[in-house]
Amino acid sequence: MKRVENKTAIVTGGSLGIGRASCVLLAKEGARVAVTDILDTEGEKLVEEIKGMGLVAEYWHLDTSNEKNVKEVIPEIHKKFGSIDVLVNNAGISGINKPTDEISYEEWNAVIKININGVFLCTKYVIPYMKEAGGGSIINMSSVYGLVGAADIPPYHASKGAVRLMSKTDALFYAKGQIRVNSIHPGFIYTPMVQNFLKPLTNPNEGMKILENLHPLGHLGEADDIAYGVVYLASDESKFITGSELVIDGGYTAR
Ligand code: NAP
Repeated sequence: MKRVENKTAIVTGGSLGIGRASCVLLAKEGARVAVTDILDTEGEKLVEEIKGMGLVAEYWHLDTSNEKNVKEVIPEIHKKFGSIDVLVNNAGISGINKPTDEISYEEWNAVIKININGVFLCTKYVIPYMKEAGGGSIINMSSVYGLVGAADIPPYHASKGAVRLMSKTDALFYAKGQIRVNSIHPGFIYTPMVQNFLKPLTNPNEGMKILENLHPLGHLGEADDIAYGVVYLASDESKFITGSELVIDGGYTAR
């Protein structure tokens, strides 16, 4: 039996990066995967790729910050696959990088809307299905920036810290219903998010070296490093784990 056989997994922000790797690995381990994102072309291409491997996936356009969209799509996924066992709240943006006093209210809210409200909305609309099924696993993508500070991207830090505690609160609320809620805290992972951060720098190679040196293992992580954690928390191998923080950071926070 594969590790997440017979489970339906929804992955938000599934078209690129960590979400993409998680979709592929969940499908390889037997899940029916709902790939969701706002990047439709990339998401649809990924689904074709997964189906080409003889595995199960479908694509839905899902903007996690749009309640109407979330409210419509979650029931559609349930109708298509017959259950919702796993939700990976992965969609997120890094947002504006300025000191706090220079950030506009709109710039602040643009990050909060996706990184916090998106997690809230998807959780809210998935919980009734998990309650009805008698259990489930919700995996919230936080960050090392949800554990420790750094003098950059203030709304991102705020949002990832919030996601860490939202996970613990929901873990306590829903434990009796066997719905587990955990957060993952990646270090820097070489995905489009980090590539887009490095690109505009005058010396991207130097920027990369600085990022690498933040990690005692001496390099950035790969999307698969996080996807393996996602599969573990999605599977019944982690059935006694809830309210916990899975740190996958090359030693970033060990100092
Ligand atoms: P990524 O490469 O930018 O991929 C994220 C995907 O989510 C993109 O397809 C993005 O579309 C999509 N997305 C953005 N806003 C969305 C929305 N409102 N609804 C649905 N989809 C949306 O990011 P990643 O590096 O894989 O990061 C994934 C998660 O891990 C994020 O929550 C991030 O904060 C977290 N994380 C990443 C790192 C890292 O170093 N990469 C470290 C710690 C934590 P667009 O491209 O159009 O925005």
